[in-house]
Amino acid sequence: MGKKYILQHDRPNCIGCGACAVVANKFWQMADDGKSDIIGGSPKPNGWQEMEIDEKDYEANHEAATSCPVEVIHLVEKDTKKKII
Ligand code: SF4
Repeated sequence: MGKKYILQHDRPNCIGCGACAVVANKFWQMADDGKSDIIGGSPKPNGWQEMEIDEKDYEANHEAATSCPVEVIHLVEKDTKKKII
């Protein structure tokens, strides 16, 4: 079984540039308020969104994270809680 990761979106600090939704459109889409959403992500009380992803979906979301100009997309290893980006 592959590794699991937690995909995190610090949505309050998203500037709505659209890059994530271009590089990883299976996981990211733009919302009516101009910010992006993790497709199927769970909202947190602080406004962040989170979703567990499999190893096969890591690369696309890592690319989304590196494309984000304000670095509000994060990836954490589920087991170790280690922050990757
Ligand atoms: S790349 Fe970053 S700032 Fe741009 S829409 Fe996605 S999360 Fe928001």
